[in-house]
Amino acid sequence: MSVMDRQLSAEAMALEARYGASNYHPLPVVLSRGEGVYLWDVEGNRYYDFLSAYSAVNQGHCHPHIIDALKEQAEKLTLTSRAFYNDRLGAFEKFLADFFGYEKVLPMNTGAEAVETAIKLARKWGYEKKGIPENQAKIVVCQNNFHGRTITIISASNDAVATGNFGPFTPGMVSIPYNDIDALRRVMGPEVAAFLVEPVQGEAGVFVPDADFLKKASALCKEHNVLLIADEVQTGIARTGRLLASCGNCACPEKLCSGTPDVKPDVLILGKALSGGVLPVSAVLSSSEVMEVIRPGNHGSTFGGNPLACAVAVAALEVVRDEKLSERSDELGQLFRDKMTEIMQESEWVSSVRGRGLLNAIVINDSEDSSTAWEICLALKENGLLAKPTHGNIIRFAPPLVMTEEQLLDCLAIIRKTLREFEPQP
Ligand SMILES: *Cc1c(COP(=O)(O)O)cnc(C)c1O
Repeated sequence: MSVMDRQLSAEAMALEARYGASNYHPLPVVLSRGEGVYLWDVEGNRYYDFLSAYSAVNQGHCHPHIIDALKEQAEKLTLTSRAFYNDRLGAFEKFLADFFGYEKVLPMNTGAEAVETAIKLARKWGYEKKGIPENQAKIVVCQNNFHGRTITIISASNDAVATGNFGPFTPGMVSIPYNDIDALRRVMGPEVAAFLVEPVQGEAGVFVPDADFLKKASALCKEHNVLLIADEVQTGIARTGRLLASCGNCACPEKLCSGTPDVKPDVLILGKALSGGVLPVSAVLSSSEVMEVIRPGNHGSTFGGNPLACAVAVAALEVVRDEKLSERSDELGQLFRDKMTEIMQESEWVSSVRGRGLLNAIVINDSEDSSTAWEICLALKENGLLAKPTHGNIIRFAPPLVMTEEQLLDCLAIIRKTLREFEPQP
């Protein structure tokens, strides 16, 4: 690789450093092209993408079916606002409702907006349907959650970096340990409107709860007339080996999920892969009984439900259905954890392997504030695979779901080789 090529990367990084806010700490690679499971940097190096934009690119980069829908719609109509009807929104809402087995859809753009929407919906339902006294509604959340970055959402966070000096915070959030059904039982009561939970905690480091946690949580919510809100922005849309990680909603007509029936959340939050990483598209799904508390003027978004987003999202879900990505994610995920467990046995550095479907993580056997996981990710990059540490010593592995078995084995070979470079030399 030439000095000139490296100069291109250096220049792009310098521009960001000079003009951009430093709200991220990216791996030093400057990407300029993506196709399927691959990314290319400005120097022409090819990488396997093992982050998939935090699971937004489940369908693979620039999927032709989604890009065709984007182009076709972009030439007709992109935005009308909700002041008028558009000819794509209703079809999108029907498609989504049928696909996931819900009655009503409220479209937004980013994941954080959809979470915010679900919280507003739950509060209003709490006052108008459950009869919670004015301004007393509580939302129960879990420690180490990640639901986004707005003030209300970080009010539910216990991450010091995400919350430090951003107060005052939104009241009405009650936090319990994740996967602790007794703690949930203790906080239930007449003022609780909703339990907001990730079926698998992604950002926290891919924590998979006990198999019956959601089922028990769902039963408790029913017993106390509390809405179960599943934040599936990261876990949904085939990432965890079924259409939804909370899946139990086996009413979905295409039988897209391969999991056992668990629960059906009262409120479902989707984002990220809803557009296959093409546009910010998010949505809140629920029953008519819950959604009817939202009346004209109560909530909205200029871009929410725009025709371009609607066309793209339908195409993105068609890819999930037609390419059987839930099944693929389930099968490849099993293979990944099996092989990764073998690698763990020969590695000093890997202390555990966990995950579901193609949402997996390894824990690096080192303190949380050590730089080992970062160094390993730098070495993985040199060997042609892009991944990023989360919470210091955890590395998340979440490739696009369109990966083939052969490609996955190739990636495992890269990971094995890279970890060997870190072993003490005999
Ligand atoms: C990424 C994420 C969000 C926030 O989505 P944005 O589009 O970044 O606002 C919310 N919840 C979960 C579980 C996420 O992973």
